[in-house]
Amino acid sequence: MLPRPEKIIFMDGFAAQDARVEEQLCPELEKEEYRIQIAPERIMLTGSGKTGLFYARTTLDQLRMVYGDMLPCMKVADRPAYSYRSFHIDCARHYFPTDELKKMIRMSAEFKLNRFHWHISDDQGWRIESKCYPRLHEIGAVRGGDYFGNYHSDQPEGGYYRREEVREIVDYCGQFGIEVVPEIDMPGHVTAILAAYPELSCAGEPVEVGMRAGIFKELFCAGKEETFAFIHNLLDELLELFPGKYFHIGGDEAPKERWRACPYCQKRMKEEGFQNEQELQGYFCNRIASYLLSKGRIPIVWNEAVYGGNLDKEAVVQLWTEDKDDQIKAHLDKGGKAVLSVVENCYCDYPYGMHSLKDVYQLNMNPRELGGHGKDSVLGTEVLIWTEFIRSHITLEEMSWPRFAASAEVGWCGEKSPGYEDFSRRLEVLFPLFAKYGIRAAGMEEWVPDEDKAAEQAAAFQMNFSEEDREEVRRLQEDI
Ligand SMILES: [Zn+2]
Repeated sequence: MLPRPEKIIFMDGFAAQDARVEEQLCPELEKEEYRIQIAPERIMLTGSGKTGLFYARTTLDQLRMVYGDMLPCMKVADRPAYSYRSFHIDCARHYFPTDELKKMIRMSAEFKLNRFHWHISDDQGWRIESKCYPRLHEIGAVRGGDYFGNYHSDQPEGGYYRREEVREIVDYCGQFGIEVVPEIDMPGHVTAILAAYPELSCAGEPVEVGMRAGIFKELFCAGKEETFAFIHNLLDELLELFPGKYFHIGGDEAPKERWRACPYCQKRMKEEGFQNEQELQGYFCNRIASYLLSKGRIPIVWNEAVYGGNLDKEAVVQLWTEDKDDQIKAHLDKGGKAVLSVVENCYCDYPYGMHSLKDVYQLNMNPRELGGHGKDSVLGTEVLIWTEFIRSHITLEEMSWPRFAASAEVGWCGEKSPGYEDFSRRLEVLFPLFAKYGIRAAGMEEWVPDEDKAAEQAAAFQMNFSEEDREEVRRLQEDI
């Protein structure tokens, strides 16, 4: 089974083909915990509620796939090692319709992933219908073309989710115990928002929705009060659409060039006594974080948001790059929590030759940034797919699957993970699951490419990037 259940005890005999399947509630179990008891005449599924029973049914279906009609008698007792087991889809760089998202969600539910991190705003597009700021979807949802690295197209690209569609996705996820965690990335990665509302930037000058990949220098102005009023109103609207506990507010890749040249931002820094623009970013994130906390939500940020050293410890840090000056460690030492999503193990937009299925499985759940708290600092894991270079749902699926399943097992089994060899053997047996949900997954010959094939794939991947883009990213990265 995938993920492998914590305990399975086999007993003598087999269940009859017409054995009754019964379900019972047991409030003593945790939300995601479940039991299965297979006896000759009866199969009993136990959970404390909807999610536990769904997981029990899912595991039973997988058992039937493995054993066919001769289901051996057994007892299964299972629960996850980590409560946060997330998958991320970037719908800002390329828009994917709700039917495609539902396929990805249903497939993820099969492996007991329980958070859908929905990336719905970035430099290249805003993707949600807004009642209070309609220019967001009218202007921010469409770009003039794609100039992503070496790929060029003059076809306008875009799309956005209507409010009913957002509710539909949230409800669909809810059926399978999945919470949607929306992300509005800020103060950087906001070019699409600024194309719609340019007065929120430092210079207030018009900008176009981004048409290339990489890092952009446009930021929300952290000095103007209007910026915060806008974000608060927007959050009020979004919190109604997204009822979950967590809300992602980005905080990554925000070069400080604009803030350094802005009288409003500089005035704010002086008033607050900040030594540098990193602290201003901490201030910016804290204001948004405290607004979310006041509404009973938990903010999540990418790890760059802690570099100012002043981020509120209630903000969960999503760890993806390096720990500059041990600031991530310092945040966790204060009692902050982390979601682990290190690029080399968790980013599925890279070819299998760069981040193999085995690499995904071998995510280090105790990196040095966690310091002495180790497991206590970790909420869980996330596996991600970014879509600058993914334009079709077939590529989206082949890049994601089966790597998402490997991440799901790491989050579910934790340190008791049975190892990659064991995992890949079970994956082979259960491979027909992908076809069952209409998903195109990479075949086993793709999972861990040999050295030559890996080198070939890495070279092809590098061809996505143009030399100018690379140079610009290098320059801006130094300023983050
Ligand atoms: Zn400013």
